[in-house]
Amino acid sequence: YQAKEHRTGVEVYAHERDPYSPRRLAMMNDLRGAIEAAALDVHYQPLVDLLTGGIRGLEALVRWEHPRHGPISPDEFIPLAEQTGLILPLTEAVLRAALQQCRAWHARNARVVMAVNVSARSLLDVDFPDLVERLLHESRMPAEVLTLEITETAMLLDSLRTKEILERLSGMGVKLAIDDFGTGFSSLARLKNLPVDELKIDRSFVSNMMVNADDRAIVQSTIDLGRNLGLLVVAEGVEDEETMRRLATLGCHVGQGYWFSRPLAAADLERWFRHTGAYLAV
Ligand code: C2E
Ligand code: MG
Ligand code: MG
Ligand code: MG
Repeated sequence: YQAKEHRTGVEVYAHERDPYSPRRLAMMNDLRGAIEAAALDVHYQPLVDLLTGGIRGLEALVRWEHPRHGPISPDEFIPLAEQTGLILPLTEAVLRAALQQCRAWHARNARVVMAVNVSARSLLDVDFPDLVERLLHESRMPAEVLTLEITETAMLLDSLRTKEILERLSGMGVKLAIDDFGTGFSSLARLKNLPVDELKIDRSFVSNMMVNADDRAIVQSTIDLGRNLGLLVVAEGVEDEETMRRLATLGCHVGQGYWFSRPLAAADLERWFRHTGAYLAV
């Protein structure tokens, strides 16, 4: 049957939904192989201080170029990794690469902070803080340069164990950010009891805030909430100048988005630094 012979990478995604699909099992194997072969890349996206325009730090975002299917979105393979026990080695690989890159920039006087995403699974693993400590030690970087981004839903998973893990990380000096804030249904009373340093407003609210009054109200209230709780407030998904200016006016501390730069490989980012004359906020 002709159509079947001409399957493309796009079809892989549909098969992800079937846990026993041979395609999915193959993807799992390929992902495991890519992690073992250190074939995953990490790209970096600037976190820009909205008051000064300087670069405060970078978010590390994992990239996987499949040898046959091409680039695969982390939104596709992170859930796969979470379901199959591959997430810990993946997190370790990204953390190690990000900290080494951070060290290289610091060595050249670019004192940026580094944000790394941590999935729900890691916050149920009592050994996770030890891993972070070991990787900080290995890279000879102080804990203060590292921010771990954790989604709102992950933060509240198994509240007792998660709280203990977050407290250990925070006690080490690592900063904690709530990622995609506003998309979960967290109770503020519970969030208040967690050692959080930073709120990242989800891009679904930010991208539309100049045309949608409800989104604008959500963004404004989140900024006020974060500021009143003494947190650093970051807006993701800043795609145009108007949005950037409005966020600054509303008191948002940091912006991230295509308006500043897409996530880039370290070497390309350095070229972008030079090209735009971007300077460092810290
Ligand atoms: P996230 O942590 O919320 O990361 C922000 C996502 O928004 C990134 O997508 C980034 O490329 C994208 N983005 C940034 N600025 C803009 C913008 O102005 N417009 C639009 N439309 N998008 C923008 P990406 O890299 O595809 O990552 C998707 C998600 O996958 C991340 O969302 C994060 O939850 C997860 N992820 C990525 N890397 C890792 C990782 O190393 N470990 C874990 N556990 N999760 C990761
Ligand atoms: Mg993130
Ligand atoms: Mg986010
Ligand atoms: Mg997001």
